[in-house]
Amino acid sequence: MDEKTRARLILKALESRFEVPDLSEIADDPFKVLVRTIISQSTAGINTRRAYENLSRKMLLTPKSLAEADVKEIEDALFVAGLYRNKSRVIKKVSQMIIQEFNGSLDFIYSKPLKEARKKLLSLPGVGPKTADIVLLFCAKRPVLPVDTHVNRVSKRLGLVPPEADYEKIREVLQSLYLPKEYFKVHMLFISLGRKICRAGRPKHDECPANHLCPSSHA
Ligand code: SF4
Repeated sequence: MDEKTRARLILKALESRFEVPDLSEIADDPFKVLVRTIISQSTAGINTRRAYENLSRKMLLTPKSLAEADVKEIEDALFVAGLYRNKSRVIKKVSQMIIQEFNGSLDFIYSKPLKEARKKLLSLPGVGPKTADIVLLFCAKRPVLPVDTHVNRVSKRLGLVPPEADYEKIREVLQSLYLPKEYFKVHMLFISLGRKICRAGRPKHDECPANHLCPSSHA
């Protein structure tokens, strides 16, 4: 079986087990998605949600409002998230830079060539490739496949990417195996598999819908 066929069958198997969220329910204003993704770094989903909701209750989630906010106020809202002090400083700094460098808006993600838009996002403090790609895919539906810790682990165990592959290599290989219109689905389904079954410790091979396609199923 060739790799594209195997990749396709893996996706089908995951679709039969997990739901794909509606992108329109996740996509939001790019600045809000950026803020939420920064909060989510090294933080469980439930705490990310709580921290994000706290912050939205306390202040308007706009670059202007967060750039002018007292960092202590941001810290109070983000307290439930890991590394909240650092994240609060980053969010304030990012907001200031968006105002100074990008005229207060991330709208360039819709209009600039993909490479340029990605480069501009990556120039912001605390914004790495995963955060930039999430904003580009979720908000502007640009053809990039974000790689988080689950996508990384699952795609390596499934043998879709080499074990030593770094972020860019994983993204490049997965993007070549799937169609751009599938990138969101692949991202979300690999995360579901990684969270629920193919966990970092003790993966549940027996419960895995893709175990017949996985070289690590007996590891
Ligand atoms: S068979 Fe095991 S290692 Fe392979 S994807 Fe499923 S849970 Fe992960």
